[in-house]
Amino acid sequence: MFNVDRPEAAPASLHTRKKYDGQDVYDALDEVFFSKCYLCETKEPHDINVEHFDAHLGDLNKKFDWNNLYFVCSRCNNIKGAVNNNLIDCCDEGQDVFRAIKHLPPVTPYAKSVQVVAMYDDDKTIETQELLDKIFNSEHTVNKKISGSFLRRKVFGQYNLLLDQINDYYSPVATQEDKVRAVEKIQVLINRSSPYSAFIRWCILGDEELNPLLVDLMN
Ligand SMILES: [Zn+2]
Repeated sequence: MFNVDRPEAAPASLHTRKKYDGQDVYDALDEVFFSKCYLCETKEPHDINVEHFDAHLGDLNKKFDWNNLYFVCSRCNNIKGAVNNNLIDCCDEGQDVFRAIKHLPPVTPYAKSVQVVAMYDDDKTIETQELLDKIFNSEHTVNKKISGSFLRRKVFGQYNLLLDQINDYYSPVATQEDKVRAVEKIQVLINRSSPYSAFIRWCILGDEELNPLLVDLMN
């Protein structure tokens, strides 16, 4: 997960209380969520929904509340449903959602699972970890099993981009220039706007040489 800075002003169409997912809402969410699903971090998924973080269950205040609208891919939305209503909040600036859940990338493209670990033992962190584990590792249905495998391959692809830079940085023949360039590219990969940034950031957090160089950029 990644933190999101939501602007205070709600898109105009919400004031009319006719539609919660109008074009202006969609565009505003697309920008602040970096075109990513807030749960799986897939960028520009083929199907993205505006969802209610706190299920509205007919409550119009919740239904049209700008602060309750999130950007989520249809697969995650489908897995979450109205069941998970007590999650850590990526739009809460007091909550470091990336450090709350450890994400470890698949080590091969066809790895059967990835590790998603709760770093705290409060209810919200545990529930979020359980949901993310389902999202990345679910084999509940044939369809979810296939789409989970596809998702893990995409995470691996991003991890592989990181490995290229790690190899360049730690190459025995790397020049200072090579190292600087590798760190610059890793900065792109750990940026909140990049796909699967939580997986990539946790790799850097665990590296004794790269972490001090990059930790301040993992806000
Ligand atoms: Zn998703």
